Amino acid sequence: MKKILGILLGIIIISINIITLSSCNKHKEDNVKTHNSFSENHKETIIKEEMKEEEKKFSNEGMDVSIVQDIIHRRYKNHGEKIAFLTFDDGPSTNITPKVLDVLKENNIKATFFLCGKKIKEQEVSKEIIKRILEEGHSIGNHSYSHDYYKLYPKENTNIDAFMNEVNETNNLIKEAVGSEFKTRLIRMPNGEMTRRHNKDKNIDKLMEKLKEIDMYSVDWNALTGDEEGKKNKSKGELLQYLKKTSKDKDNLVILMHDAGHRKNSLEALPEVIAYLKSEGYEFSSMK
Ligand SMILES: [Zn+2]
Repeated sequence: MKKILGILLGIIIISINIITLSSCNKHKEDNVKTHNSFSENHKETIIKEEMKEEEKKFSNEGMDVSIVQDIIHRRYKNHGEKIAFLTFDDGPSTNITPKVLDVLKENNIKATFFLCGKKIKEQEVSKEIIKRILEEGHSIGNHSYSHDYYKLYPKENTNIDAFMNEVNETNNLIKEAVGSEFKTRLIRMPNGEMTRRHNKDKNIDKLMEKLKEIDMYSVDWNALTGDEEGKKNKSKGELLQYLKKTSKDKDNLVILMHDAGHRKNSLEALPEVIAYLKSEGYEFSSMK
């Protein structure tokens, strides 16, 4: 009898151990599962935060043109950040644009180049410069083909067909240089959209609609070095002063500059312009 009781007791103890062990294992498994899902969630959170960080830094990909338009038209709700978009119009030039690219590279800054089709067509080497612009992470926009106000805005009203033809011609020339998959959503009207509106151009809204049909959007500016304003060939000190004046009290800047062949002074001013903006706490971004 004692023997039987002993065996029974033995069986009970073993069973309890097995149950305890398996429940322990289950607990461990649950723990691992919880830990794994915690790691997954944690990983996701980190990735999301990194993405936010990237967005904050306005990575090489550039900022969406709709936000840039909001900044220009003072609709942008500022979140405390200071952003500067350097934009260069009227290129590419064979003498100035590559040097502008050198300065940007030295400073690890991405910018936006609004190109004229005519300039691309004039010099075969332009195509290599355009490739370099993209390879180095900058953005490219369209600045018409001819830049000729009389052709584009006869009697102060945009000739929509002529304008759209020039936009397409320039887009095609850029594609020839960098590949048929190239697409830009950026257009800067010669002399600016705001000037057209100020001059009561009656076709301007229609033109914006036409551009939207091909997913293109007008980008003006809200600050400038004045390199094409008033007195030509301002010194680099004068250009910097002009920028300080036009950027005063603005947290977000879309800065108009030029990299045409005769804009040696703009190139000379560029390192100081960048140093000034950095000292004021601006981060730089391109756009898309
Ligand atoms: Zn221009």
